[in-house]
Amino acid sequence: MPADAERAGTVAPEVAERVAGIAAWLRRARRIVVLTGAGISTESGIPDFRGPNGVWTRNPEAEKTATLSHYLADPEVRRRAWQHRLHSEVWRARPNAGHRAVAELERRACLELLVTQNIDGLHQAAGSSPERIVEIHGTVHEVRCLSCDFRGPMAETLARVAAGEDDPACLRCGGILKSATISFGESLVAADLERAQQAAARSDCFLALGTSLGVYPAAALPEIAAAAGARLVIVNGEPTPLDPLADAVLHGRLGELLPALVAAV
Ligand code: NAD
Repeated sequence: MPADAERAGTVAPEVAERVAGIAAWLRRARRIVVLTGAGISTESGIPDFRGPNGVWTRNPEAEKTATLSHYLADPEVRRRAWQHRLHSEVWRARPNAGHRAVAELERRACLELLVTQNIDGLHQAAGSSPERIVEIHGTVHEVRCLSCDFRGPMAETLARVAAGEDDPACLRCGGILKSATISFGESLVAADLERAQQAAARSDCFLALGTSLGVYPAAALPEIAAAAGARLVIVNGEPTPLDPLADAVLHGRLGELLPALVAAV
């Protein structure tokens, strides 16, 4: 999207009217909670999993490599995972207009918490306050040892992979290293989940942005908010199972809709 359109936040007149209504809710809200998913990062060049061009939509087998039991059991899965991390588009990705709009929302309105399912760190790069972010599925910018829980910078381990190590072991205990992300079969960090659930239950306006709302327990957060009486707004490229529960739904590109929405707050 061209920079001038981002500044103006241009959308079609019929969409602008609905955007103005949602912006009025955001202006009045005292405890806004935002949940983002992979869809906010596709315009930065990182594919989502379940969208029309998603990694798993095109190759359902790939879902298996994100499963902890396969990763633990099979050195070949780990070798492939490290090669994938080494060449990942995440290292080249920069925040887009959608991330910047979320950061701007924090400056213009009462944002309580930004819960992201993304592991790419692009909200922080766009200027959202780290202390208001919960990375509910972890981060790819760190590694974690599955034996001793050591954590360290991803860049250091990737340098070992680039130098020829197929499956770099933990330098402290020799255990298996993995990115500090939550795989299938792993529990979320209890304190993170609790913080997100409590914020959702207290929120008066909840925005779900760029998520297929198919991964629980993150997908339960909008349900918690709606049950507690918050306005629920869903912005996504395609319908989600929670659209019928929402007070407003916008379908379209986040890089276009979010700057328009935040400019109207
Ligand atoms: P998802 O892949 O299940 O759904 C993404 C949704 O975003 C889809 O419904 C798609 O239609 C929509 N979308 C894609 N591009 C869009 C755009 N430009 N504008 C508006 N909507 C757009 O993603 P999810 O709900 O976040 O769940 C997938 C899991 O995968 C998460 O747990 C997340 O941790 C992980 N993941 C993260 C990244 C990342 O960090 N960038 C990338 C892929 C997957």
